[in-house]
Amino acid sequence: MTEPTHIARGKRVVVAAAVEQHGHLLSARRTRPASLAGGWELPGGKVEPGEDPARALVRELREELAIDTVVVGQVAGPVDGDWPLSDDSVLRVMRVRIERGAPQPGVAHDQVRWLGPREVGEVAWLGPDLAPAAAAILRLDTWVDFPSGALEGHGVVTFVAPLPDGRAAVVLDRTPFHPIDHGWPDQPGDTGFLGGARVHDTLTGVLDDASRLVAGEAVPLRRGDPRGAWVVVHVVDPEHAPDPGARVALSVDAERRAAFSRGHSGCHLASLALNEATARFWAKPSRRRDSRGFPMLDQMTISLSRIRPDGAFDTYRCGTSLRKAGFDAPAFLVERDVVAEEVNSLLAGWVARRSPSRIDSGGDPTLAARRQWWCDLPGGPAQIPCGGTHVSDLGQLGAVRVAYGITEQGFESTTSVG
Ligand SMILES: [Zn+2]
Repeated sequence: MTEPTHIARGKRVVVAAAVEQHGHLLSARRTRPASLAGGWELPGGKVEPGEDPARALVRELREELAIDTVVVGQVAGPVDGDWPLSDDSVLRVMRVRIERGAPQPGVAHDQVRWLGPREVGEVAWLGPDLAPAAAAILRLDTWVDFPSGALEGHGVVTFVAPLPDGRAAVVLDRTPFHPIDHGWPDQPGDTGFLGGARVHDTLTGVLDDASRLVAGEAVPLRRGDPRGAWVVVHVVDPEHAPDPGARVALSVDAERRAAFSRGHSGCHLASLALNEATARFWAKPSRRRDSRGFPMLDQMTISLSRIRPDGAFDTYRCGTSLRKAGFDAPAFLVERDVVAEEVNSLLAGWVARRSPSRIDSGGDPTLAARRQWWCDLPGGPAQIPCGGTHVSDLGQLGAVRVAYGITEQGFESTTSVG
């Protein structure tokens, strides 16, 4: 006979939540019973007979903290996946995301607090909750500082593993290193130093609930998928890999980063100028428009983008769907050199304004954030979803020029900066 779901190996299951949001873990201070009052916990509660543990947790979080949540995984403990609680019960800690609401203390708690990666020790945890809380915080998404342009920092090593190519992957709680995106690998990963170790490359990685790391092209999920922890993977020689728990200094190769930032900003500006200069080739009003109101030829046709030091190379596919949408590709291709001169003239005017350029992470400091590049341009602000790095003002670009060439699929664009 199998045990009911609220019993595990003869012990009653108590459920608790590792509520993750924007790189923080939720803690709550109990008001009752008197023996536990004032202690901090991962919120949760008892599983009723016949109740599914995950459903019980969602119910408890709604009752206790007024949040609607979804269970996305588990923080695995040492007792067949659970955590020791008492002689007759175990704690099952599930990873959850908030779908609606912000946690409000009710009757069971009088305070809630979000803890960042280095703040697990800042609340007085109830004994059984300390170890799972520490484990939950270790698997938060990496905090990234590259969106602000940072090149230096310190990180605490959370995870080290061998990579298939024999080198070592080092994951830290926080880093200024920019990783290449596995889904849209336009800007290469940073290089630099981690402690005394040379960082040869920086990849996007994902950790599953069993702490298996997958990095780079092999990552099977879209960035931000809540089933995994999204981590920055620093690639070092194995003999130089630091130990988990070590605090290390991080330093990105500044000149290389700056050259890619100039190339990336130039690439975005060129794409917006292309949209503006090709608006006249649309036979009917396009529904898909960029942040400045022009038909988004770039985003509708781009098939590959490679950011280079002080430049970029992009390829575009002009298929039947583009023709049906109303774009006259043959006419554009005939006039491509004229369009390039129009684009270059727009770019010269924009660069001359030395407008500030920045990344908006929407208040999420982690690698999983949905980031946007912003720049104030004549005729409307530039706003493009972007995972890369950029100059802080367009004056750093000097000049941006494009040239277009015809390909079998459509056309290609070469952008050069400086
Ligand atoms: Zn970008």
